[in-house]
This record gives sequence, C-alpha cells and structure tokens, in this order.
Amino acid sequence: MSLRPEIHFSSVFDHCSLNNNFQCFQGNPLNRLNLHRKSLQDIVQHSQSRFLPYRQLKVLFNQEKKQPVWLTHQFLFDNNNTEHKLTVDQCELVLLGISSQSLVDRSPVATSEPTKIDSETVSKFFLASEPGPDEYIYFAVSIPPSFADKLPGTYMDLRPLLPQLSVIDAAVCGQGRALLDWHQSNQYCGKCGSPTISLEGGTRRKCTKCNHTFYPRTDPVAITLVIHSDKEHVLLGRKPSFPPSMYTCLAGFIEPGESIPEACSREVWEESGVVVNTNQTHYFDSQPWPFLGGQLMIGCYAYATDETITLHDSELEDCRWFSRSEIADMIQRSRNINLDQNDRNLRIPPPIAIAHQLIYNWYSKI
Ligand SMILES: [Zn+2]
Repeated sequence: MSLRPEIHFSSVFDHCSLNNNFQCFQGNPLNRLNLHRKSLQDIVQHSQSRFLPYRQLKVLFNQEKKQPVWLTHQFLFDNNNTEHKLTVDQCELVLLGISSQSLVDRSPVATSEPTKIDSETVSKFFLASEPGPDEYIYFAVSIPPSFADKLPGTYMDLRPLLPQLSVIDAAVCGQGRALLDWHQSNQYCGKCGSPTISLEGGTRRKCTKCNHTFYPRTDPVAITLVIHSDKEHVLLGRKPSFPPSMYTCLAGFIEPGESIPEACSREVWEESGVVVNTNQTHYFDSQPWPFLGGQLMIGCYAYATDETITLHDSELEDCRWFSRSEIADMIQRSRNINLDQNDRNLRIPPPIAIAHQLIYNWYSKI
C-alpha cells in the first residue's frame, strides 16, 4: 500500500471528523509479510530495521514532534548509556511489517541518509517480498520494566494520545500495542502451563513442552445504533464509568454460537429492553480497537420493533431515545477537540470512536 500524505499524515481526529466511513486504527500501510516469515534472527540487526519501544504497553512518544519514537538497532541495543545493557533476548519483539521509510522519517526521502539494502540477508527472511532502498522493516519492542532506560521521549498511554496522532501513527501504534498485549498475556501454555516462545516475528507462540500453538486473537464486539420506528430517534445509553453526560451506542462481545445480528439483538435487549428485528440488522463498518486484549468493533444499525426501555442488567445507568436535534448538538460538542472533560452538556464519543461515526452517518444520511 502506498503512503498518501493527505491521508496517512493528517490528524486522525480531523480525518475521522471529515470522513465518517473511516475509522481510527484503519489505514495501516504496512505489508505484514505473513506469508514470508522465517526467523527473526537475521533481520533485527538490519540497518533498515526500526524499533518502536513500549513500556507496560505505553508507547514511547516525542511530545515536541507529536510522533512515536522509532529507533535503530544500534541505538536501542548497542549504544545505550546505562549500566545494564539492553539485549534483544530481554525484550518481546514483534515484526509489524515493511513500508516506506517516510513512515518514520517525515522529511522527503531525498534528504535522508542513503541506505543500501542487504538483499541477501533480507531474502533469507522475506523469501519473496524484498524491501526496496526506500523502505524500512518495522518492529514493536516491549522494554522490560526492570530496565532503567533513558530513551528519548516519554512513555504514554495510547488512548489519550490518539487526538495528537496522525492516521498512520494511530494504526501502527495500535497494531504494536495489541500484539505486545497478547504476547504479554500468553507467556504460559493454556493447556499444560509450560512456558511458550514467540515464533515468526510474533505471529504465533508455541508451548515449549506440548507444542500447542497459539495465535494472536481478536475479540469481536457488536456495537449497535438502534433506530426508532419513527426514524427520527436513536437509542443511546451510558455506563456509570463514562465521562459526565456522555451517551453512546450499545455494545457487547459476540458470544460463541452467535451471528452478528443475533449478538446485536441480545445485547440491545439485555441492556435496554428494546426489541430489534434481527432480519434487518445492517453492517456499517468495523474498527480495530487495540485495548482490553485487542477487539474488533463491528458497527451495525438495527431497527426497533418494541421501543419500551427496561434496564434488565446493571450495565447501564441510563438509556434513552434521542431526537435528531439533540443528536445534532451532541455531535457538535464531541467534535470540539478542546472540550472540557467535565462539561455537563450531553455529548457522544469523539470521531475517533466508531460509535461517533455510526451516529453521525445516521444523522447525515439515513
Ligand atoms: Zn503446553
């Protein structure tokens, strides 16, 4: 996928605000090379490899440039000025993929240091897809908590950082976070309890005793905007943990044995008592959500056949039908990037959430 500066390097908040069919964490241009992976050994030391450090799933960020910090192998592993030297074996390392070097070097390629690809080394690893001289190989690396690093930047939580990121930084940082989170949670075999090891650049883990193989998982979540039969109201709810006055679409994990419409219908009924027609559930879009273990938010529209609200479980503290004019005000407020988080006026999540895009798309088109 080629990099399009007008998309990939624009603010993800602005891009989502202007394109309601685009979701934050989409638009990752990396070629993941899943068909061509062999061993990580040869490639990590390559001069065209770049590493994005994470510490306890917080990403290393340059607040001045408003960019994640990508480091060379030499800087990270050969040249640290600390008492204890960092080694590759101490870190969890995942190969994210290969792409244009402008992903990290935002200056034009012509002004970058010339680099020559070592095609012999690279071909051992990639077998078929060789990066060109203007491409880099990208890794996410988890720095062990015990290591006192002095790397240039600040470790920051990805979620509050999103409004500051470009489309591409959000997507790539999200990919790294989700994968490192999965590796951190799967250090031991779920079958026999023995240690597991990472293979093929982090695309899987294998048990050292029983050989069971584990693959990174993505948990599907159905997120539903329910439309009233009058077509002029939509159903939104709020949990006690939400910021003040924020309402959003109803959502929940898809359970084993459920189709997407069945999950939408069940979640909506459990949380609100509203009944929807499972034959009329429409897919809108999906959003990779690299938090809470790695989820895929599947956005849908559903149409109510019984609009009576009854809070069956304790998940929501309130659930209401909102009119089109109320929604207009809530959209406007949620698009104010400088909005005071304690503002008491009603609002929906910001444009970087698929809930916002579902609601805005209904408001503007349906
Ligand atoms: Zn095992």
